[in-house]
Amino acid sequence: MDQVSVFDGHNDTLLNLHLPERGEGRSFFEWSDLGHIDLPRARKGGLGGGFFACYTPNPEDDGWNEESALRVTENGYEAAEVPRLDPEYARGFADELVDGLYRLQEESAGSLRIVRSASELEECLRERVLAAILHFEGAENLGPYPHALENYYEAGLRSLGIVWSRPNAYADGVPFTFPSSPDTGPGLTDVGRELVRECNRLGVLADLSHINEKGFWDVAGLTEAPLVATHSNVHALCHASRNLTDRQLNAIRDSDGIVGVNFAVTFLRGDGESEDTPLETAVRHVDYLVERVGIDRVGFGSDFDGAKVPAKIGDVSGLPNLLTALRAAGYDDAAWGKLAHENWVKVLRATWQE
Ligand SMILES: [Zn+2]
Repeated sequence: MDQVSVFDGHNDTLLNLHLPERGEGRSFFEWSDLGHIDLPRARKGGLGGGFFACYTPNPEDDGWNEESALRVTENGYEAAEVPRLDPEYARGFADELVDGLYRLQEESAGSLRIVRSASELEECLRERVLAAILHFEGAENLGPYPHALENYYEAGLRSLGIVWSRPNAYADGVPFTFPSSPDTGPGLTDVGRELVRECNRLGVLADLSHINEKGFWDVAGLTEAPLVATHSNVHALCHASRNLTDRQLNAIRDSDGIVGVNFAVTFLRGDGESEDTPLETAVRHVDYLVERVGIDRVGFGSDFDGAKVPAKIGDVSGLPNLLTALRAAGYDDAAWGKLAHENWVKVLRATWQE
């Protein structure tokens, strides 16, 4: 049987390639043991495309970084509050990552294409061209001006995480904490509401992964689009602040939205971050989501190149191992097709209206 392509809700490959200390100078076009995604490994693993995030890390001189800020507690972990980004710095950094994606498209000689519509995405999946959605993880680079979104839309942006796990002009993200409810702070600001309306007007997906619970409900009450969490898991199974409560899942179901299952071990399990995490742990999250939101509203959102993933997956070339685990758990061809990419295509068509 022809391999069914997997479309994926989140990767941090642009950042990994951009920062020498992360990517160590690897090329996207050559097989590497560094990082999680490059073109040869994507082909081997059957990756058809995904959301390519432009994520801006805090600058070194503000004293915060992901590694040092995470504190192990008696029964989990917590992160110090992440300082806000200077919009000017955020704009400069995000622009470099956008350029990075356009450079990949150019250098790929037709193997990677930035897609702007569901039809373009389907065409890529059919022709085995790696489809890339330009996604911002945090809207700091817009400054406090929601109307700036239109410029980025023109440049190909089709998905926007209103926040990463820090506050900005629009909303508050959840700090990384376990165990914790996602209800960690205030909801959307006035410009935050304006930004959601702007997303609706242009047809930009407003991603709800990383937003706190009040912000989630504010978006849910306002948006005309399906509710989408590109890379989040089930709070009932792993009490991380980044995961979704049953009430949130119900709202996603009722809006005909989608949840992309995150492979990050910290969101799959609460007891540490060992890569020695059986695939069954990920399958349990899939099972729970399918039970609660339905087989038509679950996809993948790997967090490749941005998180530690189970060793049995390892990197994108290990995606077939997940397929094997899901088959063993009773998912048939029809179910796999939906999880692999059909659900993503459907929700993107409804969101983008093209
Ligand atoms: Zn993320």
